[in-house]
Amino acid sequence: TRARIVIVGGGFGGATAARSLRRLLPNADITLVEPNPTYTACPFSNLVVGGTRDISAQAFTYAPLVQTGITIIHDRAIEIDASRKEITLGGGASLTYDRLILSPGIDFRWGAIEGYDQSAAKRAPHAWKAGDQTVLLRDQLAAMEDGGLVVMSVPAPPFRCPPGPYERASLIANYLKTRKPRSKLLILDHQDRFSKMPLFKEAWAENYPDHLEWRGASDDGRVSRFDAASLTLSTDFDDIRADVANVIPPQKAGEIADRAGVADATGWCPINATSFESTLQNDIHVIGDATIAAPMPKSAFSANLQAKICAIAVARLVSDMAPEPTILANTCYSFVTPDQAVSISGVYSNALGQFSSIEGAGGLTPVGAMSNVRSAEAAQAEAWFAAITGEAFG
Ligand code: FAD
Repeated sequence: TRARIVIVGGGFGGATAARSLRRLLPNADITLVEPNPTYTACPFSNLVVGGTRDISAQAFTYAPLVQTGITIIHDRAIEIDASRKEITLGGGASLTYDRLILSPGIDFRWGAIEGYDQSAAKRAPHAWKAGDQTVLLRDQLAAMEDGGLVVMSVPAPPFRCPPGPYERASLIANYLKTRKPRSKLLILDHQDRFSKMPLFKEAWAENYPDHLEWRGASDDGRVSRFDAASLTLSTDFDDIRADVANVIPPQKAGEIADRAGVADATGWCPINATSFESTLQNDIHVIGDATIAAPMPKSAFSANLQAKICAIAVARLVSDMAPEPTILANTCYSFVTPDQAVSISGVYSNALGQFSSIEGAGGLTPVGAMSNVRSAEAAQAEAWFAAITGEAFG
């Protein structure tokens, strides 16, 4: 009989998994469930916020996947019964599977910052899922008067794209410096240290000394309350009125993970690192941002690679072979100006069901590098974006 593999979520993880399985198991039924007809990519969306990239450059359709013989159902999975191996869709239909791969990305912990709920996000965009929210934040910056205060709130880890808030801060500061020079960005942070911190701090001191201020957790940076009517962010000791507020809320695995019983008390999904199979439910694999895969970061790079390795594991399992461990890697590029970037790379093992860093492999852009190094990194970032979106969406 033909193996039935269902993938829920057509982002960087899910789309890559579907395409990989199509190649690995030409005779299997591969079905991808994804509500949106187009996918809007988060990587490079901070350039859209900063006004130097069009949102249309972020959009990808699923037509090339359909052409390879993947069945795509544009609907939302609303219930998963792991014991019956059955998925219920929003439209009422149901699907059964031999193996299920979940790549639902993140959802937000609404209300974790008091007052920041779905309706507040329409006033103060998070822009942490790309699309309308990205455009809303860009448009609010464009409509702000010169002299305005932009405030960004950064959550406690773990969250999607560890260097993402600081890349965005750089590109917002660049926009203010070049277009609204009397304005300023204030970052209120739940962390005291962050990804690529020395590199960001170097770029900020060099490029945006008058347009960007960062306040860490121990400097009263933790936002606990938000008032949408007055755009006021409250920390322990301060109430700050913003002209534009970008609140990045605390996160958890996409809600369907909870419905499937694969998320634990942390809100994220524990997995066997070798097979990506849930440690909580049999025959359900989880990849991408939804997983607990530290020290791998929640990135599109990680989701894409995890998808390929998970696809190989699933192909072996349905062919009665055991998954085998391998070596994984990740690189996160961050723009510090519209044409300069810095990067961090890591290399990991997934032997014995656990992720671990391979010390001494990987590395960062050096601090104090000449600007042509950072320009070259920006060119590499562009090549990476083309490669990763090509692998996922064709
Ligand atoms: P997603 O790509 O979010 O895909 C999840 C998909 O699942 C979505 O299409 C969603 O519609 C679907 N879905 C959810 N629930 C259901 C359901 N119940 N039924 C059906 N479908 C469902 N990463 C990098 O590597 N490099 C970068 O430079 C980078 N920059 C970033 C900048 C920003 C501002 C942000 C926010 C993120 C950035 N990232 C970057 C991170 C990257 O976007 C994520 O890590 C990546 O998208 C994770 O892939 P995923 O498949 O886990 O989730």
